[in-house]
Amino acid sequence: KADEILAKRKKFLNPALFLYYKKHLNIVEGKMQYLFDESGRRYLDAFAGIVTVSVGHGHPTVVDAVVKQTKLLQHTTTIYLHHAIANYAEALAQRMPGNLKVVYFVNSGSEANDMAMMMARLYTGTFDIVSLRNAYHGMSPSTMGLTAHSTWKYNVAQGFGVHHVMNPDPYRGPFGADGKLYANDLANLIESATPGRIAGFFHETIQGVGGAVELAPGYLPAAYDIVRKAGGLCIADEVQTGFGRTGSNFWGFQNQGVTPDIVTLAKGIGNGLPLAAVVTTPEIAQVLAQRLHFNTYGGNPVCSAAGHAVLEVLEKEKRQAHCATVGDHLLHRLRALQDKHDIIGNVRGRGLMLGVELVKDRTTKAPAKEETLLLFEQLKDLGVLVGKGGLHGNVFRIKPPMCFSMEDADFLVDAMDHVMSKL
Ligand code: PMP
Repeated sequence: KADEILAKRKKFLNPALFLYYKKHLNIVEGKMQYLFDESGRRYLDAFAGIVTVSVGHGHPTVVDAVVKQTKLLQHTTTIYLHHAIANYAEALAQRMPGNLKVVYFVNSGSEANDMAMMMARLYTGTFDIVSLRNAYHGMSPSTMGLTAHSTWKYNVAQGFGVHHVMNPDPYRGPFGADGKLYANDLANLIESATPGRIAGFFHETIQGVGGAVELAPGYLPAAYDIVRKAGGLCIADEVQTGFGRTGSNFWGFQNQGVTPDIVTLAKGIGNGLPLAAVVTTPEIAQVLAQRLHFNTYGGNPVCSAAGHAVLEVLEKEKRQAHCATVGDHLLHRLRALQDKHDIIGNVRGRGLMLGVELVKDRTTKAPAKEETLLLFEQLKDLGVLVGKGGLHGNVFRIKPPMCFSMEDADFLVDAMDHVMSKL
């Protein structure tokens, strides 16, 4: 029961682990886009276990693949041959553009970004790294340095040699949706605060934890140019935006027409199993081979089987196209909701990676933090779970499993309309 779990959590788990709702949810079962609590009550999951359950809770194809592999062989490591890791790496590489053909499997997004940072430094022989303000790239000591979001900062040594540049945020940034103007800040930073050469530049294409902020159009082509002129590698963090979630493309970076040098993957890649990956070119991959490198669980047979099954489902069930259709419908309905409720300052995103930013006043854009919290609880009481995020915690994040239907979209928007009308 919830009370007992809470008491044990308080006693035995680190208090840093926070709970999302004031009246805690005790989730015991998941079926596709729905979650069920201890009393059997159903909730529409519009946050997918923090954008992780890509194809649905307990998707039968993924479950079958995991069960079959677990029964046969649960774990060895990469020191022996196993078909699952090789076949899956091939399948993943086939879905990457350009020369992004070599995979290293790890277990979490933070690990993937740690490794990408190390690869960039080894490959370029230089140290400085740049990421965007409002970015989230992980919570290991070095990725916490890439993350530029005060909520997640500790007063410990983190991210040596990491610089943060102006965020190309079309809603709150000074240059609106003109991506090229924001890129000037990157050029200035490299010129003034580094030896003129950098190791790499990290970015999400739609910032996740930062509140579904889609980078201003034109930013990435301009930024990639600047970074490459400074000898650096361009690193796309596709932990939330990958695998067709944005609807228009399989990878988020393709929405701005760029091809990175390194791509990091996690979350949705394994539908909730601990799986993550770093994908790069054969030339860059080679830098790790100068020493022995090892990861005990990375690409283990069970997680590889899950990852492969996710790719199979995405294709068979045409999930990218589905994200585009349902996402367009959601955007359209959320924009109509914005016309009705002044509290909605901005609706944004692509596919099933959307954000609704709440403000006290549309002119000052003062974040409606308390109201967001209140509505968030009320949505849960109506059976709808959304995410929240942004620097001020005033953005609803809508990133459901990719099987989210038109009816689910309508249910979600109607619930938002209902709670906002009562505010
Ligand atoms: N990158 C992005 C874009 C993320 O959203 C996250 C997790 N929220 C991470 C990296 C870190 O992933 P993990 O929690 O698996 O370490």
